[in-house]
Amino acid sequence: MPDYCWRCGSPLEVDLDYGKVRPEGLFEGGVTNMWKYRALYPLSSHRHESELGLGEGGTPLVLASKVGRKIGVEKIWFKSDHLNPSGSFKDRSAAVGVAWALEQGCPGVICASSGNAAGAAATYAARAGLPAYLVVSSRTPKSKLSAPTAHGARVFRVTGDFSRAFAAAREAALEVGLANLTTTYVNCYAWEGNKSVAFELYEQMDQTPDWVVVPVGSGPLLYGVWKGFEELRRFGFVDRTPRLMAVQPDGCAPIARAFETGTDVVPWSGVDTVVSGLDDPLQGYERDGTLTLRTVRESGGIAIAVSDEDTLEAGRLLARDEGIFVEPAAAISLAGASAARQLGRIDESETVVCLLTGHGFKYQAPKAEPEPEFATDAAELVRAIRHDVSEYG
Ligand SMILES: *Cc1c(COP(=O)(O)O)cnc(C)c1O
Repeated sequence: MPDYCWRCGSPLEVDLDYGKVRPEGLFEGGVTNMWKYRALYPLSSHRHESELGLGEGGTPLVLASKVGRKIGVEKIWFKSDHLNPSGSFKDRSAAVGVAWALEQGCPGVICASSGNAAGAAATYAARAGLPAYLVVSSRTPKSKLSAPTAHGARVFRVTGDFSRAFAAAREAALEVGLANLTTTYVNCYAWEGNKSVAFELYEQMDQTPDWVVVPVGSGPLLYGVWKGFEELRRFGFVDRTPRLMAVQPDGCAPIARAFETGTDVVPWSGVDTVVSGLDDPLQGYERDGTLTLRTVRESGGIAIAVSDEDTLEAGRLLARDEGIFVEPAAAISLAGASAARQLGRIDESETVVCLLTGHGFKYQAPKAEPEPEFATDAAELVRAIRHDVSEYG
């Protein structure tokens, strides 16, 4: 149902009647969950939290000093959105999208996904008692499909990359009148939920961070963060917004490339990355990328591409040094911050928030699947551990 502008094909945008919002007290008292800010979503009912809520949003903000020291940044925080109910930030848009679908009386939801959006859509559709139809590409890892299947969703695999799945789901949504929860900019109601990341950061920090680093496929999360901070500024809570850094894998980086070359976003051909979730070539909706790029520029930020190798290394660093286990599409934010620091784009004393978008439980890159070590008995175990403990650190 929700779709791009039928005349020009550009993303549509919700324009709230801000005069009707009472912002006093809205951003006080500490984070709880994303429904705290329901006055700023395009919804009319107040019952959604009790009907749909599973504790989405309100995720911890973690200061990571060891990682900060390693990459040469004094203050770096990680926003732990991998701890959302279905294991990714996609719960924020799916919850608002399903709430919207209920208000509109949609007969069901559909979602093209590289995995995480499917999990989120299936979760909230199950909660709402609506059927969910998921369209995945041949690149989607099977490990991301067990939860949606458990929630009762029907999963269809379309041959080709994400853009093919996107086109098929979009057509089916319009034909059948389903709410399209695909997390490009195709559903302007759903991604309003991503603004909650900004509202929570405002409550969790004593000042606006200099940088917010965002893993980007097509970019609605980045745009949501920007729009959330813009609303905070409109209401007079902040006087500046953070610079936004979009990070993409160098094997699929249509937005980062356009930023570097100063050109328009063009679809990526020959996707080559293990970073599931960021392998979106934007074929047929490159205007999504244009909107993301414009937002990056307006914020005074940058868009950069990093190698899969650096991304996997960033994931290992987070897991080993900070106890944070995320998927590569989340760890790429640290790889991006580190690369930007080395390039001198981030200063040592600037404050940085990296968004951790998805949990490591669901997916690791193929090479990262470990084999356990072998120990025949307790004696061998003790010997190995004794030696290790004495050398630890
Ligand atoms: C979807 C996804 C992204 C990309 O977000 P967009 O706002 O759709 O570009 C990043 N990380 C993870 C883990 C994701 O699932």
